[in-house]
Amino acid sequence: MYLANYINGSYQAPLSQSYLPNINPALGSVYSHVPDSTAEDVEQAVIAAQNAFPLWSKTPAAERSRILLKIADLINENLEQLAKAESTDTGKPITLAKNMDIPRAAANFHFFATAILHSHTEAHHTDQTALNYTLKQPIGLVGCISPWNLPLYLFTWKIAPALAAGCCIVAKPSELTPLTAYLLGEICTKAGLPAGVLNIVQGLGNKVGQAIVAHPKIKAISFTGGTATGKHIASVAAPMFKKLSLELGGKNPTIVFADCNFEETVQTAVRAAFTNQGQICLCGSRIFIERSIYDKFKTAFIAQTQALKQGNPADSSTQIGATVSEAHYHKVLSYINLAKEEGGKILCGGTTLKVAGECENGYFIAPTVIENLPFDCRTNQEEIFGAVVTLQPFDTTEEVIQYANSTAYGLAASIWTENLRKAHQVAAQIESGVIWLNCWLLRDLRTPFGGMKQSGVGREGGWEALDFFMETKNICVKL
Ligand code: NDP
Repeated sequence: MYLANYINGSYQAPLSQSYLPNINPALGSVYSHVPDSTAEDVEQAVIAAQNAFPLWSKTPAAERSRILLKIADLINENLEQLAKAESTDTGKPITLAKNMDIPRAAANFHFFATAILHSHTEAHHTDQTALNYTLKQPIGLVGCISPWNLPLYLFTWKIAPALAAGCCIVAKPSELTPLTAYLLGEICTKAGLPAGVLNIVQGLGNKVGQAIVAHPKIKAISFTGGTATGKHIASVAAPMFKKLSLELGGKNPTIVFADCNFEETVQTAVRAAFTNQGQICLCGSRIFIERSIYDKFKTAFIAQTQALKQGNPADSSTQIGATVSEAHYHKVLSYINLAKEEGGKILCGGTTLKVAGECENGYFIAPTVIENLPFDCRTNQEEIFGAVVTLQPFDTTEEVIQYANSTAYGLAASIWTENLRKAHQVAAQIESGVIWLNCWLLRDLRTPFGGMKQSGVGREGGWEALDFFMETKNICVKL
């Protein structure tokens, strides 16, 4: 199967006519071909977006909302096909794609379609002399660039607010996971989205992504991906004074106090560690446990990790699938080796896994739990982004706050204790943009989402996302 770009409302082959192989990571074999697009394809997309902008930006909010709601409905109607595509592209369990990725993509459209109906602006009365009112206007053409781990979920998390705000888009999914973005084009056409409003250019980051970021007509860049890529993007976009939203990497702490609800904590800490093969920016990969329950926690955590069913992602009972690509598989394995070199003791996993049958050449790594590493070693400081976690004991609250805050990242944390006062006090001191108390990945789309430090700049979600895609203009009237 040869995929295509979605430009000006129709599918188009890349101008270069060249393609990249798209590999099913559970099988280790090529199953489709992705356009290897270039700056020329991006230029076509920009022209289409420019032509569409005058009409789309003036389309009444109620009409934009109606089209976005239709897209949400069509995503739900095509759940099976989209979930299969997501699972095949990423190696994630089909059940996860069905229960999390695709429903969330529909929810993203639904959420911003209805939000736009309730937006408001401010007015400031200046004594008796003037009236100021603030307009929010769509910023124009925007670039949306997303990663491979939650492909349609994160792609639509950017696209939906941009469309709701009245912007026209040039978007790029990861070339490792192009399929659901490809299918989204047809859904948008069916839903009545005018041609040119959303353009999807497939291909490599250093060609297509770079051309989007550097294009002078594109006013804002919403990017989710690695910190090094985010830094590069900022270096290109900032001197052009583009608006930037950067959602980057994480190295998130799970902090377990002795007075936690033990069963619930272990169960959720395992889920937080290994969901999507540990390839979620919010996964808790450093687990700090109060010393008095360290051994008990370790035993229960290992038992539940070993009980996870790893195998063919297409099998509905599979809980852990394959790592997304051969390159990422080797990266994760290299960190397991590093952990050993740093003195880590592998408690379970630590090896590749052979899945018999059609998946025997797939990129599977057994969920890995490591202990005996200091908080400041590389294994505990660098983002691995795989099914690898470390367990570390702590004695005092001050000590665990220091450990938790010791990395360059500051995306998410979860804190486990039944002592509410302690929970709030610790939460206030953790340097993360998203903190869960006695839960993990419990999301309300109205809340601000994003990271501190090297985990990013800006917030997505709720009004913050809509605001990002708008220009704010104050108008002062002398009375
Ligand atoms: P990358 O940074 O490698 O890639 C992200 C996207 O950027 C891809 O589409 C990529 O294309 C593109 N890209 C690469 N180089 C450039 C460039 N020079 N200019 C413009 N675009 C470019 O991240 P991954 O895809 O490897 O995703 C994993 C990372 O994403 C992890 O660090 C993870 O923590 C982070 N992440 C953060 C989240 C958050 O909300 N904070 C959520 C999910 C993931 P290509 O695929 O061709 O390289």
